[in-house]
Amino acid sequence: MSLFNPETVTCNGETFSIYLTQQELEERVAELGDELSSKYEGKNPIFIGVLNGAYIFLSDLMRQVDIPCEVDFLKLSSYGDEKVSSGEVTDLKDIDADIEDRHVILVEDIVDTGLSMNYLVDKLQKKNPESIATVTLLHKTEATHHDVQLDYVGFEIPTLFVLGYGLDYAQEGRNLAQIYILDSDPKE
Ligand code: 5GP
Ligand code: MG
Ligand code: MG
Repeated sequence: MSLFNPETVTCNGETFSIYLTQQELEERVAELGDELSSKYEGKNPIFIGVLNGAYIFLSDLMRQVDIPCEVDFLKLSSYGDEKVSSGEVTDLKDIDADIEDRHVILVEDIVDTGLSMNYLVDKLQKKNPESIATVTLLHKTEATHHDVQLDYVGFEIPTLFVLGYGLDYAQEGRNLAQIYILDSDPKE
């Protein structure tokens, strides 16, 4: 266990409380890894992680997958340093791998409005993969208003701002081993 697991944290002057513990995260990530290992046996899938937020989740998830697989990354920005989505997606980095005829597993940290995931699935489809599955650690079910493909979801969560385990607030908090939730409404 990490030695850095406080009950509450202050990040950029705002207080966040523990929401998902390290143990809950580990158990759920192991379940997802087992599901993917069975589903993709013999298919040599390529994981595509969405930077920056998904890097911790993806690194833990891949170590729970016991079949041959590869990894690549792309980078998007939609939140800037804010706590609510800007409603625009900006490409910051594309994948390097050729995914034509490959089985792609797209890995996101969190689906909020669904805009980013929707955009990414469309973008990757154009590269003619054999299949695309999506995985997100967190899903803000009530906030999702885009028609979005979600195949594997770690946890469904309320429409509140979260950080830790790769997720940031104005670039801070990614190193927290657990997920923390903002005590007040994100629009305030
Ligand atoms: P969407 O396009 O679904 O509205 O937003 C997706 C992206 O916004 C996520 O990949 C993530 O980078 C960011 N995001 C959405 N909700 C949160 C949140 O509660 N906390 C943090 N740190 N980022 C979020
Ligand atoms: Mg993300
Ligand atoms: Mg962010």
